[in-house]
Amino acid sequence: GAERAAEIDYVFKVVVIGDSAVGKTQLLSRFTKDEFCFDSKSTIGIEFQTRTIVLNRKRIKAQIWDTAGQERYRAVTSAYYRGALGAMLVYDITKRATFDHVARWVEELRANADKAIVIMLIGNKSDLADKRAVSAEDAVEFAEEQGLFFSEASALSGDNVERVLEADRGNPWSGFK
Ligand code: GDP
Repeated sequence: GAERAAEIDYVFKVVVIGDSAVGKTQLLSRFTKDEFCFDSKSTIGIEFQTRTIVLNRKRIKAQIWDTAGQERYRAVTSAYYRGALGAMLVYDITKRATFDHVARWVEELRANADKAIVIMLIGNKSDLADKRAVSAEDAVEFAEEQGLFFSEASALSGDNVERVLEADRGNPWSGFK
């Protein structure tokens, strides 16, 4: 209601991008509801979910946007990026191609999003370490070259997901003063 809304000092828009099936929707559900949904279907129609975080004594509503499957048709529009302060660029550590495409997603961000956008590279599905196809070293090197923050995480186990949200660790809202 209006009373609750009045407690919010800022609203941040964060977009989640990356190839299809890397786990974007599941990460979003971990971030906002601390849930992993085993029978997740299409996300068409859901635009964003929110989670309130407290940073420097300000209540910030993180409005985290999902592509709703648009990436399947390479149809993520510039409207999706408009106003975003942060981006979570997700790949799947068990699928090399999803990491190889990360450079293309960075280009797309640089072309469409605000110049000051903070990008967090996330290697998802760290619970599947036995099927690993991308080393953490490769990802660290790429992230350093491109000036991105980086963390591996698992939407399934919840590992490191909170870390991505924490202040002062390098995350989509760490640039906020
Ligand atoms: P999206 O297309 O990027 O939104 O991907 P989804 O969130 O729909 O996930 C794609 C598939 O990967 C689904 O079968 C999920 O259950 C699975 N998945 C997502 N995150 C993880 C994870 O951290 N670990 C494992 N093992 N599977 C995951």
